Amino acid sequence: MGDVVKHIVVVGGGSAGWLVAGVLAAEHPLRVTLVESPAVPAIGVGEGTWPSMRDTLHRIGVSESDFFRECDASFKQGSRFNGWRTGSPVNGEPDDYYFHPFVLPQGHGDANLAGAWQAAHAGVPFADLVSFQPHLCVQGRAPKQFGTPEFASVANYGYHLDAGKFGVFLREHCVNRLGVRHVAEHVEAVRSKENGDIAALVLRSGSVVEGELFVDCSGMQSLLLGKHYGVALLHQRHVLFNDSALALQVPYASEDSPIASQTTSTAQPNGWIWDIGLPGRRGIGHVYSSAHSSDEDAERQLRAYIAASGGTAEIATPRKLGFEPGYRERFWHRNCVAIGLSAGFIEPLEASALALVELSAAWLADDMPATRAEMDTVATRFNEAFTYRWERVIDFLKLHYVLSKRSDTPYWIEHREAASIPPRLQELLQLWRARPPSRRDFPRIEEVFPSASWQYVLYGMGFHTRAAPRASDRPDLADEAFREAARLTARMLPALPSNRELIEHIRRHGLPRI
Ligand SMILES: Cc1cc2nc3c(=O)[nH]c(=O)nc-3n(C[C@H](O)[C@H](O)[C@H](O)COP(=O)(O)OP(=O)(O)OC[C@H]3O[C@@H](n4cnc5c(N)ncnc54)[C@H](O)[C@@H]3O)c2cc1C
Repeated sequence: MGDVVKHIVVVGGGSAGWLVAGVLAAEHPLRVTLVESPAVPAIGVGEGTWPSMRDTLHRIGVSESDFFRECDASFKQGSRFNGWRTGSPVNGEPDDYYFHPFVLPQGHGDANLAGAWQAAHAGVPFADLVSFQPHLCVQGRAPKQFGTPEFASVANYGYHLDAGKFGVFLREHCVNRLGVRHVAEHVEAVRSKENGDIAALVLRSGSVVEGELFVDCSGMQSLLLGKHYGVALLHQRHVLFNDSALALQVPYASEDSPIASQTTSTAQPNGWIWDIGLPGRRGIGHVYSSAHSSDEDAERQLRAYIAASGGTAEIATPRKLGFEPGYRERFWHRNCVAIGLSAGFIEPLEASALALVELSAAWLADDMPATRAEMDTVATRFNEAFTYRWERVIDFLKLHYVLSKRSDTPYWIEHREAASIPPRLQELLQLWRARPPSRRDFPRIEEVFPSASWQYVLYGMGFHTRAAPRASDRPDLADEAFREAARLTARMLPALPSNRELIEHIRRHGLPRI
């Protein structure tokens, strides 16, 4: 038997650090200390989440109504992609858009939806035919009603939020409700045991924090895993080229402007622009490749987008962020596990970073080793699972670029070069030319992106599956699924409030508690 794990030390008070501390403190009778440097601010971006965030917030015991009020949160029902297929001036040609909604296609898994769509309905965007959710987004509807309890949904949803406020909200909950000890000090040095484990962190004041397990949530500098242990970053710039972002906050034209309930991602000559609606402002940013675009060009395109979409951002100076796309060779080494930006970051497309944080925190809480002796086994499994997950995130993000027909810049052309496409993605694309994605292609429990997501993007991007009809296809089932999606659309549109109406209602009156 090795040391008993009694005290967990989290380094870093960004979204990752507080989410991990919250999940651990809510579920384990362990001591949790979070050390956060007053000299290094959290990154302050990361405004889009997945529906998994509902489970995470519920798991740590926060009130969803308080979360809406204090984090300036709004509903996210998926993503809308403009101009990714063929390219477009600023906001996308009218027919060059598609949705990746959070609701599964109607009849998913029971019928060959893609086959029936291609055979008889190819004039209608795939997601619009198989799901009611794109229609809710287009009409600005909320995903639930005034009386739907906290965390429950009529249509599956995640959130848009103010990242800075989210950190403060989580901190207060963790410290005041969950007993997490907060130490606002800069970590200066790491003290090691003879066997190479981390024994303690030495803080700027000279005080020392000992622990049995250290969670590195120190952001891109990866203080413990990267700097102290030297675990390498596996660079992915050869697959996904973006390494820069310019971010701005843009006021609404008026107080009652609609709040979009999807993230809008509009393709640009050398990247793409995110547009996220919060109750009080929009968060807009241009993600691009510095090898393909100057910062000045990227800023010009960002301003052109904002002007064309009804915003004014003449005065504000965008915030520049740089990142090195990649993930660590392993995430858990000895008694140190990295979660969040310290483990890696690829790019913001599809907002998978916080989802990986949640998955990592949940894994850690579920498989928490009781002793140091158990830790290496848990670490091996964690490393295997998360290497698989990062690889799948990369495949999925790359899919968006590989299927584009844009040839207006070397950026888009180079994205389709075979050498830049991961081998597993190449194999899958070959398979899917003969049949649509199936659950067999994604065999793990808790796949990061389920086969439904792959279908939404594949067929949204205009991919063609040349499947010969099979007896098992049951086109009647697919037709019934399309009719059901249309019936649900007709029923939900008049029954759901607008996104802004519901958010304002929650801020004033709250939602019923479960
Ligand atoms: C442009 C951009 C857009 C993004 N958009 C999204 C999105 O829409 N959705 C999404 O899920 N993710 C997004 N992300 C990723 C997301 O921002 C991060 O995954 C998330 O904020 C978690 O960051 P973090 O907590 O790991 O790191 P950070 O927020 O950087 O926090 C690091 C912490 O470590 C502390 N620290 C550092 N050094 C020391 C030290 N020596 N001693 C003590 N403490 C220290 C700092 O004080 C800070 O508290 C985006 C990222 C970028 C770059």
